[in-house]
Amino acid sequence: METVQACELCGGRAFTPVLSQRDLLFDRPAPVFQVVRCDRCTLLFTNPRPVGAELAAYYPEDYYYRSQVDCLFHQYQDGKARSWKRRLKAVLLEHYYGYPPAAAGNHGWLQRLLRGPLLSPLYVYVRTWRDPFLIPFVGEGKLLDVGCGLGFTLARYREWGWTPSGVEFSAAAGRYAREVLGLPVFQGELLDAKFPSESFDVVLFQHSLEHFPFPSLELREAHRILKGSGRLVVMVPNAGGVDARLFGRWWVNWDVPRHLFHFTPRTASALLAKAGFRVQRIVLDRTPTNFVASILYLGKYKFGAPRTSERALRLAFRPVSGVLALLRLAGHMTIFCDKA
Ligand SMILES: [Zn+2]
Repeated sequence: METVQACELCGGRAFTPVLSQRDLLFDRPAPVFQVVRCDRCTLLFTNPRPVGAELAAYYPEDYYYRSQVDCLFHQYQDGKARSWKRRLKAVLLEHYYGYPPAAAGNHGWLQRLLRGPLLSPLYVYVRTWRDPFLIPFVGEGKLLDVGCGLGFTLARYREWGWTPSGVEFSAAAGRYAREVLGLPVFQGELLDAKFPSESFDVVLFQHSLEHFPFPSLELREAHRILKGSGRLVVMVPNAGGVDARLFGRWWVNWDVPRHLFHFTPRTASALLAKAGFRVQRIVLDRTPTNFVASILYLGKYKFGAPRTSERALRLAFRPVSGVLALLRLAGHMTIFCDKA
């Protein structure tokens, strides 16, 4: 274990403990980890924290299946199965998000319908505007996913017309992305991949930035490899949301010790600015997945309640998470940045 002496964001050296929790994802009774807040800049981080092989032990092979297969694989399969929905989305992507026509295919009647004054604004709003995975198309569409895991999200972006690349630390997950999904994925750290300067249109950190011991280093490297007109997209939990407060130490996204940092819109924006990025907009996630996961944690670990139907809970809490997203208090955020 390593004790962090200086704050990653401001260099401050005085921290206040906020909460303590054990590894709930793998239900390990010990050790207990502590989340602290920097007294100067309010950055939240796990301290002390495991390092090297000790940290790697918290990422067993089934971690990637546990955290990704449930949600992402189903999205991926959904895209394959319901082709009319996928086509509809492709048309919307072309007309409102600048995607190349190849991704949309030839659906003349659908395009005419969507251009209609009545249907399109509502449809765009419902189907796409609040989709945290939706990235407006940039330049030639060269997209790098840092910490791509099994590669399901990358495969989805490829389907939408992007040219995908990935970096993944886990050998097993990287192999799956390469061999099963046929994606070009570098196995190792971003800094070791040594991509040429200004070679990507989009660099994406999809729930990976909070896992790095030194996120500033990763962001500076992302800045170097992004084209001048490129965009950085960071998806992270929002520790400043209502659910973090409501569920306290049972909030699913503390996920200690894998989550080394716990960002709020304010601290994430400050860290991004420090690395040379300008935040364009922050989209709060309206899906109830994490709210429901926190309810299940609370039920299981605090009250010993029998497992409830996750599907039913998701349906019940969909309106709640929708309202939280509108109020900008939801537990997940997607931050869109350009180079300052
Ligand atoms: Zn600080």
